[in-house]
Parts: sequence; C-alpha cells; structure tokens
Amino acid sequence: MTRPVLDVIGKSHLELGRGADQPFGSWRLRREADKVAWALLDCPGADTNTITRQVLVDLSALLDAVRPTGPSALVLRSAKQGGFAAGADIQQFATMSNPAEAQTQLREAHDVLDALEAFPCPTIAVVHGYALGAGFEIALACDYRIAIEGSHFAFPEVRLGLHPGLGGTFRLTERIEPVKAMAMMLTGKPAYADKAESLGIVDIVTRERHVEAALRDLAGRGKPDHGARLRDKVWDLAPTRHVAARRMRARTAAKAPSEHYPAPHALIDLWEAHGGDRDAMRRAEIESFTRLLATDTAKNLIRVFFLRQRLSKRAQGDATKRHVHVVGAGTMGAEIAGWCAIKGHLVTLSDISLAAIGKAMRSTAKLASTSHLGSLECRDALDRLIPDPHGHGAKAADLIIEAAPEKLDVKREILRSLALRMRADAIIATNTSSLSLESLRDAVPEPARFAGLHFFNPVSKLELVEVISHDASSVQTMRALEHFLGSIDRLPVTVQSAPGFLVNRILTPYLLEAIMMCAEGNDPERMDSAAEAFGMPMGPLELADRIGLDICVHVADSLRGALEKPLPDTPAWLLERVARGDLGRKTGRGFYQWEDDRPRKDTVPTEDSQSVQDRLILPMLDAAVACLHRGVVNDAQSLDAAMIFATGFAPFRGGPIHYARALGAEVVVARLRALAQKHGPRFEPDEGWHAFR
Ligand code: NAD
Repeated sequence: MTRPVLDVIGKSHLELGRGADQPFGSWRLRREADKVAWALLDCPGADTNTITRQVLVDLSALLDAVRPTGPSALVLRSAKQGGFAAGADIQQFATMSNPAEAQTQLREAHDVLDALEAFPCPTIAVVHGYALGAGFEIALACDYRIAIEGSHFAFPEVRLGLHPGLGGTFRLTERIEPVKAMAMMLTGKPAYADKAESLGIVDIVTRERHVEAALRDLAGRGKPDHGARLRDKVWDLAPTRHVAARRMRARTAAKAPSEHYPAPHALIDLWEAHGGDRDAMRRAEIESFTRLLATDTAKNLIRVFFLRQRLSKRAQGDATKRHVHVVGAGTMGAEIAGWCAIKGHLVTLSDISLAAIGKAMRSTAKLASTSHLGSLECRDALDRLIPDPHGHGAKAADLIIEAAPEKLDVKREILRSLALRMRADAIIATNTSSLSLESLRDAVPEPARFAGLHFFNPVSKLELVEVISHDASSVQTMRALEHFLGSIDRLPVTVQSAPGFLVNRILTPYLLEAIMMCAEGNDPERMDSAAEAFGMPMGPLELADRIGLDICVHVADSLRGALEKPLPDTPAWLLERVARGDLGRKTGRGFYQWEDDRPRKDTVPTEDSQSVQDRLILPMLDAAVACLHRGVVNDAQSLDAAMIFATGFAPFRGGPIHYARALGAEVVVARLRALAQKHGPRFEPDEGWHAFR
C-alpha cells in the first residue's frame, strides 16, 4: 500500500509498522503480513513516555498475547515524536515508602523484562530521541537496538540519588565493556547514537527512512545466544573487578563523596561484589535501589527533579523562534547571543567595538561545535547570528536584550536610543546584575514591556535566569519572557526588582564572609574546603575568582547600604588586588593562581568544622529567609530551585529553605545569634525567621 506522500517525506514521519492497532493500555500491537509484530509505546494523555508500573503490566499482557502467534520478530518502538522513553515515573518513586513493597514491585518489573529477554523470536528496540533510565533498560532487554541518528541513551538515576533498578546494572555491564558501562551509570552522561554504536550498545545507527531495511537485517540474524555474551570474561574475576572498583571509587569520591551521594558508591560495591553473576546482581540491585530510595539524598534530589519540572512548566508556551537583538557583545552579551542562535532564534548582535563582535562570533563557533549539533545544524546556528555593528536589528527585533557595561548612565543612554528605533510591540530586557529596574524603566517608551533578564555566567552552563519585574512591568511581558527562556532551554524564576535581586542577594554574604575569613589569616583553600565539605560544587573563593573579583566588589558595593543589615566591608587588600588588575580567573590571578582554566590550590585537610561552615552557610540561609519574607520571590520552592540551578547550592540538601527547615528555625536562629555575639550584627537573624515555618 502506498503511504500518503507527506507521511513519507514529512520530517515527523516515524516508521511504526502497518496493520490494525490492538490496544494494550499504554502499548499498541500491530501485526504485519510477514509476521513482524510491532509493540508501540504510546502512554495515553502524555507527550512523553514514562515507564510506570502499568506500562510494564501492559507490556507483559502484550507479550503473552503475541507469543502464541509465533511472530518472526518483535519490534518495540515509541509512537511519540519526542523519543523512546524518558525513564521511570519519578512520582512513583516518591511514593514508594515501604521498602518491602518497593522490592516486590521491582521484582515484578524485573520479571517482565526477563520475559521480554526470553521472548522466542528476535526482539528489536528502535530508538529515536532518547532512551533514558527504565526506557533504556527496556531497550537493553531486547536482542537488538537500532538508534536513529541524533538519539541518545543514558542512565541519569545518579542525579536522583539512585542507580538503575530495572536490570540496567547487569544488562549494560554484560553488553559492553563493564568499566565503560559503569562510567555511564556513575556519571549519568548520555551516549549519543554514534558513541552508543562504538560502545556496543546499539547494533545499527541509521536514518528514519532506512529503519525497515535495518529491521530486516537484524531479524534475519535470528535470536542471539544470550549465553555467549560479548562480555570479556576477565571481568568475572573478583580481583580484576576489585582493582577497577578501587579506581572508580577514588574518582567518584572526588566528585561525589559517599556521605553526601551514596548511590554511585553503592553501585560500585554491587558490581565489585557480584559482577558477572546475573542472579546475584539482580538481587543486590533491587536491595540497594530500595535502600537508596529511603535516603535523604534521594528524597532531596527527587525533590530537585520536581523543582526543575515546575520551572520548565512555567517556561512552556509560545515556542515560536523570534528575532532577538542583543546590545553589548562582551562576556555576557556574546554568550547570550550565541546561545539564542544555537537554540534557533535569529540574532543580531551590536556593540560599539567591532573587535568584541568578532570575538563573539568566534566564541559562538566554538560553543556550537561543543553542543552536540550536527555539522549542518552548526552551520545554520552560525548563519542565524548576524554581526550588527550599527544596531539595525533593533528596528525589527521581537526582543531586545541589553548587555552593556553595568553603568547606569550608559544603560539609560542605550535604552533611550533603542526606544527611538524599536518596534512598538517589542519587549526590551536588561541583563543588569545590580541596577534597580526602577532606575532604568523611564528610559524606555513603554515600561510595561520592559523587564530584567538576569542570566548567569556562563550562560550555556547555568540554566537559571532571573526574570525581574518592577512596579510597571506587565504580566504579559513577564510571561512572554518566561516562554522565551523556555525556547532557549533555560529555567525562569520570577523575582521582584530588589537589591541584588534573589541569587546575588543570597550569595553575596557567603562570598564576603569567606573573604573576611581570609582577611583574618585563613587560607583560601581552607575556606573552600569547608564549603565543599558542606556540599557546594566549589568553594566561595574559587567561585569569586571565577565570577571576577571586580564584579564581586561591585555587587557587594551595590548591596551594601541597600539592605536592612550590614554586610562585611570589602578588605583594603582586596580592593588593592582589583586595582592591580588581579581579577581572578580572567586575568590568571585572584585568590588563586590560574593555569589552564584551573586554580592552583595547595592540598589541605578537609575543613569540616561546624563553626567554619556555619559562618559561611548560615548567612545564606538568613538572606534566603529575608528574601522570602520580603516577597522578592513568591515561594520557597522557586527560591530553592534558583539557588540550586544558578549556584549549585548542595542539591542533596534540597535548597537553602528546605535545608533551614530540616535544621529547624530555632536551631538556625540560635546559631546566628551566637555568631552575632562573636562577629557582629551582620549575623543578627532576619525578622523573617519569626514567621518562618
Ligand atoms: P563586558 O564589559 O564584558 O561587555 C560589555 C560590552 O558592551 C563590551 O563589549 C562593550 O564594548 C559594549 N558596550 C559598551 N558601551 C556600549 C554601547 N553604548 N553600545 C553597545 N555596546 C556597548 O560586560 P559583561 O560582563 O558582559 O556585563 C554586561 C552586563 O551583564 C552588565 O550589566 C553586567 O552587570 C551583567 N552581568 C554580568 C555577569 C558577568 O559574570 N560578567 C553576570 C550576570 C550579569
């Protein structure tokens, strides 16, 4: 039968077999005349397939129905455009509180995948888009995997404080070289189609139009002999695994200490103890998974997952690609412009310096080449970024982002001149990090369509963007900016125009306290080590060096005096350093000497004394409560999300407000008071603690 032409040439066409659909809940069964059966995963009412208990119950029923019909091959494929499956239903994890019940459910789920693996004819998973977590595990239980170009496979469970729980630990370590399999599970990093093929995860990488041919090829190979797996038997030997596990442990501990992140360590333990023994691995995987599920780390990381989802949802909306005009091609403007172009927008980039625009074009080329884009997509992204030294783009743009130097008169002048040229319905946003929006808004013709878009540096790595409202910004403008951020894969948090907005307001007391402690004679390494022991991704002084000491001093100056309570003074030696041009990473010298983009640090013993950690962390909790109390941000969840996604605030602690609640308000207030007695009124608890629950 000829398929409609548009079906064949349309970009969105997925090869899904032919024949009438027989529904099996979240699956649809199609039987072709040549006895190939198609199991199409199509979770009802959702854009994305997630693997719930019901999906597996339905799969089991489908397998039971197809088995007696003796198909020549069984193809598993998603009918959703986006991808194969996004992993297990996290909501279900969150409700699995009874370990015995969780173990029973997992065993039942394992039985279904075992039945799929033992299915009498060749089983072939066709993966487009993504196969994550449990979705990847279903694909691994098939005899063969076809990857459509651009698709990827990953086990992101470690990011939830877990490890694979549906057979991934043994199926992947059997399928590919175990050390590489472990690296995928320990880091959660994806393997894109070509890499997946070279690792041995997939059998064929192809384009959609060649799926039928690839299926014929694999079905013709028959059922593989699962007894003679590709695995290198050397890994069945305990001493070999022992040596490899020791190395994995050391590398993992450097990034994810076991006391904060038990999951990767549990995974290493289980592979070291049972690798090569499938039954023992299965038992250990189920036990370890349910144990991890009960940890605070997993609970908090699952919470962080939902916080991200909440922000992503706010960003969902009109995803039409627009014309964005960026003014200022410096550190921020260059990357904002490049990132928008990579994400599909047409971008004009203006600056008074041609050299800055040229540099921005080069840095975007570099960014595009490291963004998993194909060569054509890379070329298209660069075509979309248009150097615009005369600023003509401002006339046509839907959105103008001003990223000029942080000087009130410069910004006001730029806004005034843009106001004469911009479209009447365009939105204009400033990337200011410290100027009040009220001091800028009368420079634009229509303050309702003016707001702040505070990106963090580097834009391509830090997902969070503060969308800053002021007393005259309209709800439509705020929503449009949130949707714009969704279109460039960034997470919006709406905040009020207030000194330091949200993130800098909370972060600055922490950075300044670390600087004070340095001024008291402590080594920077010691301060950084204390923050890292708490769970921060890097210490405050390394962070200050990365931000730029000039910027830190500027933000602190702009906050000092604008807050209800004092901030520590910037020590004179730091001001001298800045005056000398020792600005941190960008000049090669700050608190640290920088080489190859890394700070040179002396090795110090881990600083885990509570008094040092309290001095650093409690001012952040206090500032967080102050922001919440004063309505800088609407709710605690947005605040926690902002601090985690903009600064990496120890995610396993769930964010500053969640952590403060876990400690208890009375405990934090008492410790702050003790610090205030010793070090001064900057530690006095904010009045917001009275109402804090
Ligand atoms: P930058 O000094 O690196 O770049 C500013 C650019 O603006 C320069 O290329 C300069 O030539 C150009 N410029 C100056 N006057 C101009 C004019 N009249 N018209 C057009 N271009 C002009 O500064 P940056 O670090 O990119 O900061 C830009 C804005 O982003 C500031 O408001 C800053 O507070 C904010 N910000 C910076 C960071 C950061 O880490 N650097 C982080 C968040 C927000």
